[in-house]
Amino acid sequence: MRNRLVAGNWKMHGSRAQNRALLDGLVHGLRDRRGVEAAVCVPYPYLAEVAAQLAGTPLAWGAQNASEHAQGAYTGEVSAAMLAEFGCRYVIVGHSERRQLFGEDDARVAAKFAAVRARGLLPILCVGESLAERDRGQTEGVVARQLHAVLDAEGASALAHAVLAYEPVWAIGTGRTATPDQAQAVHAFLRARVAERDGKVAGGLRILYGGSVKAANAGALFAMPDIDGGLIGGASLVAEEFLAIVGAAAQQRT
Ligand code: PEP
Repeated sequence: MRNRLVAGNWKMHGSRAQNRALLDGLVHGLRDRRGVEAAVCVPYPYLAEVAAQLAGTPLAWGAQNASEHAQGAYTGEVSAAMLAEFGCRYVIVGHSERRQLFGEDDARVAAKFAAVRARGLLPILCVGESLAERDRGQTEGVVARQLHAVLDAEGASALAHAVLAYEPVWAIGTGRTATPDQAQAVHAFLRARVAERDGKVAGGLRILYGGSVKAANAGALFAMPDIDGGLIGGASLVAEEFLAIVGAAAQQRT
């Protein structure tokens, strides 16, 4: 059985005081939570402080991006090695905001995935279609292209040490969630694409759903057989909401 994961993506939100309060609430609420892994992906400047606050707690932490380069003259960039030095576990790769706002194409996302893996960190590879692409019936083509950019470059075995996240762009930060059936269809499609290369890796691969997940809709999404948890944006900034989402993921596993 795949161990559920609920990962928060704080994006460019937070302050030292807000982070401390939020993490206090999360750690306290997660004490009795079994059968599900929880993580927060925080802005770079807070990584060291968050790592210290979360040491010895069940809450893992990660980053929201990493450079595809190992080191060098790349002003403003942060390498996977730097993240690894602090004990980082997860790195979000190819989030739609990176793809859309910062021009990250499939090849660059695949290079970032490789850089993160090379340092022993776990990439959370995001794929997802825009509303226009969905309306044109291109959902499967788009997510397959995004997935295959990594599969072709790294091989299916690389996904044994990674997490996949289906995040329809039209559902991110919009309050509009994919229905459980819509999400399940894409998750099953993605798993089948990986299974064409390696059935064992596909069976063990955690595929998260992301896009306006809240306490109110998490249970129905997580009840789907190929949805193994969530990547949570806005709702990860509110301790009660995030804990309730983690709780919904745990319930599906009892
Ligand atoms: C995200 O940023 O990955 C995300 C899913 O955001 P939200 O939950 O706010 O839609």
